[in-house]
Amino acid sequence: MIMAKDPVCNMDVEEEKADFVVHVHHETFYFCSERCKEEFEKEMGLIEPAKGIRIWSRFLKKLSNGADKEFGGKPPKCH
Ligand SMILES: [Zn+2]
Repeated sequence: MIMAKDPVCNMDVEEEKADFVVHVHHETFYFCSERCKEEFEKEMGLIEPAKGIRIWSRFLKKLSNGADKEFGGKPPKCH
C-alpha cells in the first residue's frame, strides 16, 4: 500500500484508492476530496476561479472603453 500526501490538507491518501488525482509537470498529486483537488488546481493556475474571470472581463471592458476615448472611437492598431 503506497501512501501519498494531499498537498492541500496534508492528509495521507492511499494512491491506489485515490479518486482525486491531478497530473501536472510529470508529477502526480493525490487528494482526499474534490475540494482539495480544486483548491490545488486553482493554486497551480490550472483552472480559473469563477471570480477571477468576472474581474478579468470587467477589466477588458474598462480597457476598451478607455481605448475608445483615447483613439476617438477607432480601435488601436496592434501591428
Ligand atoms: Zn485534502
